[in-house]
Amino acid sequence: MARYTGAVCKLCRREGEKLFLKGERCFTPKCAFERRAYPPGEHGRFSGRPTRQSEFSLQLRGKQKAKRIYGVLERQFRRYFRNAQKRTGLTGLNLLQILESRLDNVVFRLGFADNRNQARQLVNHGHFMVNGRRNDIASTLLVPGDVIAVREKSKQRTYFKMLKQAEDRRTPPAWVESDLDNLTGRVIRLPERAEIDGNLNEQLIVEFYSR
Ligand code: SF4
Repeated sequence: MARYTGAVCKLCRREGEKLFLKGERCFTPKCAFERRAYPPGEHGRFSGRPTRQSEFSLQLRGKQKAKRIYGVLERQFRRYFRNAQKRTGLTGLNLLQILESRLDNVVFRLGFADNRNQARQLVNHGHFMVNGRRNDIASTLLVPGDVIAVREKSKQRTYFKMLKQAEDRRTPPAWVESDLDNLTGRVIRLPERAEIDGNLNEQLIVEFYSR
């Protein structure tokens, strides 16, 4: 599946806020947004942001932000939106739940990776099993009850050995269960709205695609 391969810090600068796409680095003074909090490009610094954004611009930015946080390109994002519309309940929440249930996002939430890009790479390199079967497709949508585990062969890698020994572990959200000592995890249920962070406004996304 195609993915964005450009400079990720530019995405934060374009959105005008920190999207935390690089893990640890985002919390250090090395963060590009801390140093250059203006849009990228030749005119970014001096053009200034418009004081009043149009409705369309707000909706577009809302949608772009979600795509960038989850590392999804337009065609697939639109597919997720159509999928969300078909489900019962609120389309916006359905969309966020679909994005959260991607395998790369769950690997990130479980604490196996520092950020979603890294999680995606670990999945693509075939280090994980889902319900006992090797799965290297980052966009796989998981459902409650699915069990994720690092493959036996991959457990010998320095990265996973260090992960087991790490003491500064992130607390996973309540909708997943993580066992870093055994390098396994499980999806308990779909996340509720309050459990989905990222300063997202799903209503703007719904409005964008409903124009
Ligand atoms: Fe965004 Fe992180 Fe880069 Fe800062 S370091 S600009 S938060 S991706």
